[in-house]
Amino acid sequence: MQPRLLKDINVAGKKVLVRVDYNVPLDAQQNITDDFRIEASLETIQYLLQQDAIVILMSHLGRPKGNRVAEMSLAPAAKRLSEMLKQKVIFVDDCVGEIAEKAVAMLAKGSVALLENLRFHKEETSNDDTFSKQLAALADVYINDAFGTAHRAHASNVGITAHFSEKGIGFLLQKEIEFLVKTIETPERPFTVIMGGAKISGKIDLIEKLSESADSILIGGGMAYTFLSAPPYNYNVGNSLVEEDRKETATLVVEKFAKEGKRLALPSDSIVAKEISPEAETRIFPIEAMKMGWMGLDIGPKTQKEFKSILETSKTVLWNGPMGVFEVAPFANGTKFIAEYLVELTEKGVTTIIGGGDSAAALKAFGLEGRVSHTSTGGGASLELLSGAKLPAFEALKG
Ligand code: AMP
Repeated sequence: MQPRLLKDINVAGKKVLVRVDYNVPLDAQQNITDDFRIEASLETIQYLLQQDAIVILMSHLGRPKGNRVAEMSLAPAAKRLSEMLKQKVIFVDDCVGEIAEKAVAMLAKGSVALLENLRFHKEETSNDDTFSKQLAALADVYINDAFGTAHRAHASNVGITAHFSEKGIGFLLQKEIEFLVKTIETPERPFTVIMGGAKISGKIDLIEKLSESADSILIGGGMAYTFLSAPPYNYNVGNSLVEEDRKETATLVVEKFAKEGKRLALPSDSIVAKEISPEAETRIFPIEAMKMGWMGLDIGPKTQKEFKSILETSKTVLWNGPMGVFEVAPFANGTKFIAEYLVELTEKGVTTIIGGGDSAAALKAFGLEGRVSHTSTGGGASLELLSGAKLPAFEALKG
């Protein structure tokens, strides 16, 4: 049986413990530099408040490895959430034990509390049952709305589910799963996938899985050079990033696409430089003219045109990974081009999905966030789900 949905659970006036994903980036002064994940949690919280529930939120932030690390406190997240909700958010200095129990006992209906970082206790990531029980003791109902950690089996999203009879998934988790699963299982065609980023390593399962459902795949970013340097292409890619031990797999993927009559497009030209720096001298090299001393750091103008001609006729587009080193200005054009073109396609009614992580960061860097059909809040989780893997946190909530 599928997990129950929040709207089908009676939460009126009850204590509801919600696992959210507030693993937000902070600068040295503890300012949140991107509040996208907090924003994404609002729908569930606001619904619970309308139901006059007592909302108890819990999350992790960073990797404190079981220690109290002041820089990884969730206090800034409580402050930002409070600004967004225009309501006080009570910050609780610990997630279990006397501090948490006392604080929760004092909460009135319609109030919101955020517990301190779950990972200040090592029992969170070891999925410790006693810790799960302690968390569960704080509430009557459990809701998981943390997509970003759904691919991990931890106490707050897996172990805890054994200690609640009333439990289910929140609106964000529901939306993420519906969007991503529906896209891969029944996309409106043609379905084009754009892959990029530095390495093939973490994405090969996804590329293989997508070879079953996508009609075309466009590959940019550093990973393209492993493909280009492997058979059947065998290009000299100069000093570009190449994962030698992935060449064989790259060749198999190319063969698989060819056998299934699908299109796998690689860059035909690159923006190259001798160093990764804002002042670097850049050139445009056709792939066949790459040479030692130069690194391919972005897709070139010809590749942009070729990718556009495939995207133009697509009805569904999934994008994961930048086309180049977009953090450094001279190598950002290819990624910017894709981001802008996806916004244009979205406005024409094409379903466009950003698989989280760096592509979501790129969209934001270009001021285009929120202008595609769906931006996933979980990089790793969305890759695993799209690759066909089961998410432990979602499975744990199945009846
Ligand atoms: P990933 O974590 O594998 O998605 O990779 C994201 C990173 O890939 C970004 O930080 C980019 O700067 C980097 N990247 C993209 N294209 C290239 C390239 N051609 N060479 C080296 N790094 C790249």
